Amino acid sequence: TRTPVNVTVTGAAGQIGYALLFRIASGHLLGPDTPVRLRLLEIPQAVKAAEGTAMELDDCAFPLLAGVDIFDDATAAFDGVNVALLVGARPRTKGMERGDLLEANGGIFKPQGAAINAGAADDVRVLVVGNPANTNALIAQAHAPDVPAARFTAMTRLDHNRALSQLAAKLSVPVSAIRKMTIWGNHSATQYPDLYHTEVNGKIAAEQVEDGWLRDEFIPTVAKRGAAIIEARGASSAASAANAAIDHIHTWVHGTPEGDWTSMAVVSDGSYGVPEGLISSFPVVAKGGEWEIVQGLDINDFSRQRIDASVAELAEERDAVSSLGLL
Ligand code: NDP
Repeated sequence: TRTPVNVTVTGAAGQIGYALLFRIASGHLLGPDTPVRLRLLEIPQAVKAAEGTAMELDDCAFPLLAGVDIFDDATAAFDGVNVALLVGARPRTKGMERGDLLEANGGIFKPQGAAINAGAADDVRVLVVGNPANTNALIAQAHAPDVPAARFTAMTRLDHNRALSQLAAKLSVPVSAIRKMTIWGNHSATQYPDLYHTEVNGKIAAEQVEDGWLRDEFIPTVAKRGAAIIEARGASSAASAANAAIDHIHTWVHGTPEGDWTSMAVVSDGSYGVPEGLISSFPVVAKGGEWEIVQGLDINDFSRQRIDASVAELAEERDAVSSLGLL
């Protein structure tokens, strides 16, 4: 039997955590041959709730689940971690300014980055889900100087999956007919879902839909889907966010299919004019457990403007956390 992989989940007692843990334990994160040990991090007030979830995990008798440990201390929770899913974050509450939000999250992601630096396994892979995800990932990465920056990523896979689903419905095709979807930029309302390289049954998607639909329906629907779900469900998306986190890590570890790519927010090397060091979403291929930004795509004027606007927002967030002393 193989040694279990240590998977640390923060915010484990939250909504997304509840939808995520059972799928990790049943083998959907790393595959049916890989046992996992779950390490749950919560704030002290939520430890009891995490214990309840751990009891339910026990009661599933998952053959791949080697154990569940619960922590309220980041250093302990990240000791030996192979896969870190940073879900817990400080939500924006009424009357909270953007700077307050960034500062509150800096207080969470700075020590978590330091704890990963101190104790993570050599192969650690980090996915930040908690918002503002790209900038939280940047803060954590900045405090883990001994871990390659490439190991810190943020989630735009839910946006990617939402874009696949909207396009499939529009063209009445199964999602499996679609390749090369891209989300660029920040996981925020400025994100840019790009159909100019997406292929549907081998033909460019942007040429199969009206410009008006692409600009005035598709892009805003994908970008505002989270708000639409809150409106309908009375709670934010959780199962679909958890599913996207599973997809993100699964693709990173097992690779993208030949002839396809995915969307991941990863540290920029300056590709496509995105300033080096920002954690921005790109078209990415994964192979042998490593990701690489897809190179050489033509970017038209419309896409250029959209990408630049989202990247400008990321640069502003970086400057804001930098002036708060969080980088
Ligand atoms: P959720 O589990 O619903 O959400 C967790 C985070 O994921 C939020 O920051 C949320 O952002 C973000 N998120 C990213 N993408 C999505 C998406 N598509 N849909 C919905 N959310 C998304 O939050 P809960 O409040 O239920 O749970 C959070 C838990 O985290 C609590 O149990 C809390 O105690 C814990 N926590 C743990 C910390 C730690 O371990 N150190 C630190 C802080 C909190 P958004 O707010 O923008 O929706």
